[in-house]
Amino acid sequence: MERRQFIGNTLAGGILLGGETENAQTTSIHDPADFFAHGDLVIERPVSGKPHSGKVLAAIQPHSDDIPIFAAGTIVKLFNEVYTGHLIRVTNDDMAGPGSIANTVLANERDNQEVGRVMGFQKIFDLNYGNHQMDGISRPELRSRLIFLFRLLKVDTIFCYDPWGHYEENPDHYVTSHCVEAACWMANGDKDYPEHFAAGLEPHAVREKYYFARFQQRVNRIVDISSTFERKVDVLLTNKAQGPAGETGARLRASLAARKQRLPLLGENDETANREYIKQFVLRDNTELGKKYGFQFAEQYHYIGPDKPVVDDYVKEHAVPL
Ligand SMILES: [Zn+2]
Repeated sequence: MERRQFIGNTLAGGILLGGETENAQTTSIHDPADFFAHGDLVIERPVSGKPHSGKVLAAIQPHSDDIPIFAAGTIVKLFNEVYTGHLIRVTNDDMAGPGSIANTVLANERDNQEVGRVMGFQKIFDLNYGNHQMDGISRPELRSRLIFLFRLLKVDTIFCYDPWGHYEENPDHYVTSHCVEAACWMANGDKDYPEHFAAGLEPHAVREKYYFARFQQRVNRIVDISSTFERKVDVLLTNKAQGPAGETGARLRASLAARKQRLPLLGENDETANREYIKQFVLRDNTELGKKYGFQFAEQYHYIGPDKPVVDDYVKEHAVPL
């Protein structure tokens, strides 16, 4: 049963639409195997004009290469449609990169700044938690920092790992995503963190969520990124310190040359090698997903949109003069 149909039935039956009542009733009516609460599959394509003018997104990534790999094509597409956006990196990436720990931190910080610049983010926040250690942090602390940022930046839409993605092994990914999910609705509370209001902030709900996953998740949104795919490659080239992209193609070309071999795919210079390596190997999933849905390249998400104003709609349709 679809959510809309369910709500119609509850109204007809006189059941109040309080959040808990609705959820409890939904659970008892649904077949437990069903999982359609956030809607059927939607194909999101590029839109001309400025459909998102005035809207703000935040991309939250534990590490400097997460958003580039999973969401850069969609976010650049939304920027083309006149969203503005901010990048929040949660760890300091001190366990994944070149040289000493200090060098690794610096290299990732520089990469992350480049990710932000190339993608077109307005502000970049580094929250500086220890890499791989996030299952030991204070989750309420991270949640409250995110709530502050969502209220300050008036975030309408977030991109992050799916808090309900299966088989995720990295604690930075699953802890960040759970804190983000909680912060999205708590940011709209008028009693949580009253000191924010004293400082001039107001409650602010995050109404749209694009969740990506490394392994399995329930996908209900496919985004056609054919028009921004080359830009996504530009973004992945900036992840030199860690991740599968950056200058990996050039390194493979050099190692093959040392063995008196070459791959025609990698071309005649390092720049071509890096780009083609990214397209052929790093973004192979984008190519295969695009092919499946009839366009060149695609990204996939579990998308959660704004609740429909069912009470307002019902009142508009049925209210009569006294
Ligand atoms: Zn990561």
